[in-house]
Amino acid sequence: MVSIGLFIIIYFFICNWIQIYYLFGNLIKPKVRLKIVNGKGLAEKLHKKTGLNLTIKSMPEENKMIGFMVSTKPFPPVMIFSEKLYTSLNQDEFEWVALHESGHYLMWHNLKLILMQFCILILGLMFLNINNSLLIITPLIAFLLGFIYIKLAIILEYQADYFAVTNMDNPKGMITGNIKMSKVNQKLMGGNSFLQGLIIAVSPEERIRMAEEEIKRRKKIER
Ligand SMILES: [Zn+2]
Repeated sequence: MVSIGLFIIIYFFICNWIQIYYLFGNLIKPKVRLKIVNGKGLAEKLHKKTGLNLTIKSMPEENKMIGFMVSTKPFPPVMIFSEKLYTSLNQDEFEWVALHESGHYLMWHNLKLILMQFCILILGLMFLNINNSLLIITPLIAFLLGFIYIKLAIILEYQADYFAVTNMDNPKGMITGNIKMSKVNQKLMGGNSFLQGLIIAVSPEERIRMAEEEIKRRKKIER
């Protein structure tokens, strides 16, 4: 019984550590206020592109460039960005992150992630139930399944980035935005590649490649 509890706690922590640490960690700080921001004047443009009435909030996190879509359909879309991200990015760069988070909402990603987490959890519990003798390595199995979840969840990140880059006015914003972000966030991870492997995101290098390909594609169409 204890090991099942331990399994569930470790598994959910591995799956959601970014949200727990950076989102929840910030929100439970005393005197933290989320403030509604205007999305760099993009709200109207984004509404035309996505049909969404977005609420864009910022939280007073000054060291990391992070953003979250914290809602899912059928609830109204709400995205939260760190102050550092919001103030560091220009309009074109911010359009990328806002479209990325909008993509998550439009494609029901949060709901899909919750379902994925529960399906993998149930598989893990069934496996442990069959192999009682394995209880001693329960934490390892929880970690492995959490890792598998992260790798699967990255597929949705590709979808959100693809949605963003193909809908951006200026895909160069995704390139410069990622250069800024990787500089700031590398410091945050201390260049720790182990932690980097536990982040549910497309790497900055790959995002830059996606943007370059989109720029090439648009040039071809123009010709
Ligand atoms: Zn994302």
